[in-house]
Amino acid sequence: MKKQIAFLPLVALGLCLGFSAASAETVLTSEKQKALKPDEVLADLMAGNKRFVDGATTNHKNTKAEVEATAKGQFPQAVILSCLDSRVPVELVFDQNIGDVFVARVAGNIENEDILGSMEFATKAAGAKLVMVLGHEACGAVKGACDHVKMGNLTALLEKSNPQWTHRPRIFPKMSGTQKIRNSSKR
Ligand SMILES: [Zn+2]
Repeated sequence: MKKQIAFLPLVALGLCLGFSAASAETVLTSEKQKALKPDEVLADLMAGNKRFVDGATTNHKNTKAEVEATAKGQFPQAVILSCLDSRVPVELVFDQNIGDVFVARVAGNIENEDILGSMEFATKAAGAKLVMVLGHEACGAVKGACDHVKMGNLTALLEKSNPQWTHRPRIFPKMSGTQKIRNSSKR
């Protein structure tokens, strides 16, 4: 089935879906997953985000039942690559249940062979229908790259995040880190 890739600047962290109350009955099964279309998955994530923003989440009400219902298998609908930020708990901001989404996290939400291999597992082996790359505002990794931060293994990570960010930080000297990236990416 056709996969879609979506990029969401978490500016619209007014995401949220409204599925029914979380219980074992809401856990995705093989049959439910096979019937899903990428557009439907994206719509579900966006609706969940709207619920989150509105303070009206409906999932995470019976995690024990979800754990038990997913114990013998998982059939997630999406794989989401996110930055490492404690303020953006992916399953929560999309109001997803246990077993609903794969989440890969690394500072700067960069991809490399390990991330791509994980996404291939999520989609080709486990059947996820949507690949999403989730960015967010006030990203410390982006700012660190623009500021040429040097610190242990973080130095190499920031270089991988996007060489343009670290090598062209003075093009927009009056802009914030996030603005620099957005404008640089258009060049
Ligand atoms: Zn970040």
